[in-house]
Amino acid sequence: MGYLIRRGRLVDPVSGIGGVMDILLENGKVAVIGSNLSAPGAQILDASGLTVCAGLVDLHTHLMEPGFEYRETVATGSRAAAAGGFTSVACMPDTQPPIDIPGGVGYIRELSRKAGGARVYPVAALSKGRNGQEPCNYEELKDAGAVALSDATPIRNANLLRDAMILAHRQGLTVLSCCEDPDLAQNFAINEGRVSRQLRIPGRPAIAEELQVMREAMLAEETGAAVHICRLSTAKSVAIVRRYKKKGAPITCETCPQYFTFTEDEILQQGPPARLEPPLRTPTDVEGIIEGLKDGTIDAIATDHTPYAEAETARPLVQAPAGMVGLETALAASLTALYHTREMSLSDILRKLTINPANILRLPSAGRLAIGLDADLVIFDPEEEWSVEPQNFCSLGRNTPFSGKRLKGKVKYTLVGGEIVYQAG
Ligand SMILES: [Zn+2]
Repeated sequence: MGYLIRRGRLVDPVSGIGGVMDILLENGKVAVIGSNLSAPGAQILDASGLTVCAGLVDLHTHLMEPGFEYRETVATGSRAAAAGGFTSVACMPDTQPPIDIPGGVGYIRELSRKAGGARVYPVAALSKGRNGQEPCNYEELKDAGAVALSDATPIRNANLLRDAMILAHRQGLTVLSCCEDPDLAQNFAINEGRVSRQLRIPGRPAIAEELQVMREAMLAEETGAAVHICRLSTAKSVAIVRRYKKKGAPITCETCPQYFTFTEDEILQQGPPARLEPPLRTPTDVEGIIEGLKDGTIDAIATDHTPYAEAETARPLVQAPAGMVGLETALAASLTALYHTREMSLSDILRKLTINPANILRLPSAGRLAIGLDADLVIFDPEEEWSVEPQNFCSLGRNTPFSGKRLKGKVKYTLVGGEIVYQAG
């Protein structure tokens, strides 16, 4: 027998079903949703006062295996995801070797089966060796189980990108594009602006991102092939996507909690842990990102979970690696910045953490709660406050600008296939 989840407040952005309900899970699937259910033999999970929704879906994580197991493995990343309420995550192919052949995709799927937390779906490389020159064989990669294509780094070669989008479209795969012109961004540590001038170091300008967002949007319009823009960070990027969506271009995009929580000022207070790619921007950009989330221009909230070892993050700002771990803070950070500030409803936030990313990855049974579908769900307390203490993370990575911050919203249980894969405390 499975679990009977009792008296949880169900939020389902897809069906619009809400209110206090019971959910019976049997054989790994959602069997019944209703009131005052009884199921002799089922284990009772008391969810009184808690919110229940479909397990979260992250379409942008870096799990570092194979090649960088000292930063994260598929197993530790999968458990970190579960601790954050995620039941499905797509992992980027920037491993060593990169995931650019069917055997690599199969290897990640094999590791995922043994991982014990969230389901892990491989994103395959767009170009052979991730060198930005020649497309991989997308048909083979899809057959092996790749859910999307990305080089997980900005693409310099527009000819490759255009060919790749057309070929990917034929296979029904979405291209995930990280936008920041590498020649403009160079390897500078922070946003070009007030803080970079104050610190007297060169910065990466917002237009480095916006130029490539514009290029991707125009290519989507011209080719009719789907493109998804990863980690939007500027108000102008949002405006570009908004304009091209209105014109009917097949473009989607995501942002991450760090880009609607922090500004470049965090660099002055925190230094290296606030070094991200793209960098933290200005208050105007944060407002633009929140506006884009509210009006539907931004489809998804992703993590861009990027763990590093402690020795790597101990370097000074200019040499420090860019990126942060996000799987265990994304839900709470989103609720803190968007729900508890009354910017957005719970249902609208959860839509961007569940069904929208599942649709972009074309995962048919993820991101929704419905009878007969996999019992992947998260049970959380939207009101509980906690302090972010990275030493308690399931992730091997400790690098995050949320360290020490108070957040509101705590995951209590995460279930994958009807089994508890994470339980708080
Ligand atoms: Zn990334």
